[in-house]
Amino acid sequence: MAQSSIEWTELTWNPTTGCTKVSAGCKYCYAEVMAKRLQAMGVEKYKDAFKVRTHPEALLIPYTWKKPKIVFVNSMSDLFHPEIPIAFIKKVFKVMNENPQHVFQVLTKRSERLLEVHAQLKWTHNIWMGVSVEDERVVHRIDELRHTNARVKFLSCEPLIGPLRNMNLQNIDWVIVGGESGRKPRPMDADWVIDIQDQCTEADVAFFFKQWGGTNKKKAGRLLNGKTYSEMPETETTFG
Ligand code: SF4
Repeated sequence: MAQSSIEWTELTWNPTTGCTKVSAGCKYCYAEVMAKRLQAMGVEKYKDAFKVRTHPEALLIPYTWKKPKIVFVNSMSDLFHPEIPIAFIKKVFKVMNENPQHVFQVLTKRSERLLEVHAQLKWTHNIWMGVSVEDERVVHRIDELRHTNARVKFLSCEPLIGPLRNMNLQNIDWVIVGGESGRKPRPMDADWVIDIQDQCTEADVAFFFKQWGGTNKKKAGRLLNGKTYSEMPETETTFG
């Protein structure tokens, strides 16, 4: 577990690590860079760098958190990657099911596999399921997510590298938008962001604007029309 600097979560929990690239949003994958760095530092969990690995010992961690947390599951991997056995995905879900005091945010780009296996999983209210949608080539992920039994469904439009016009936001609870950061970020057009915000308003969907990104993301900040937008989905989970 690690404290997270990601604006829409508190902690990260990585019961699996490693991945392979699947679409344009993966081009400058932060997890890959970080995994190689951790391998170079001699961190045991990352001895195989970015190869897909399961970590059964990490399954115990959520039971040790004393206060309710908002947790990003697998910031260093993709839980629905084809190399992760369904038996292990079920174990991760069992941990989430047994810890209803915490919110677990699971984000995938493997929406086809998510749809294929969703009926074998128990979807308690504290599991928020999201898909990444970086441009119009992958909007099918929204339909696949919509057809799952997840109780709370969200989109992460980050890094937003193209417009997302006329999305079907039916049964979607939350949309996060953010621009790419790093050394060679692909630009995000302000009109794309405002268009998504308008679609969220129209469909009554919570909207979270994470960042403009760019080479100096701190300086670029997260103001949109002079305001911060940090809406979260309505949830049955209460935080004490
Ligand atoms: S799916 Fe996510 S973790 Fe996997 S390569 Fe793409 S950006 Fe990285």
